[in-house]
Amino acid sequence: MQLMSVNACRACGDDVIADRWALGYRTCTKCGERAARQVKHTIVPVPKSNYVYAHTKDDLISPYSHKGNR
Ligand SMILES: [Zn+2]
Repeated sequence: MQLMSVNACRACGDDVIADRWALGYRTCTKCGERAARQVKHTIVPVPKSNYVYAHTKDDLISPYSHKGNR
């Protein structure tokens, strides 16, 4: 059970600093940083194959590597 008055992070449930909350953030500092750093996930459609889930530059360079298809 959580108190309703707590500014809880949407991602982890931790308290969000009031200043952050006032700015419109709904995630704590930790999660906010993580989200900002996170590499953008991209789906690369490969003809005659499955969609390739690329999350690193390397994946984008060689989308035919059939990574999750071993
Ligand atoms: Zn959090």
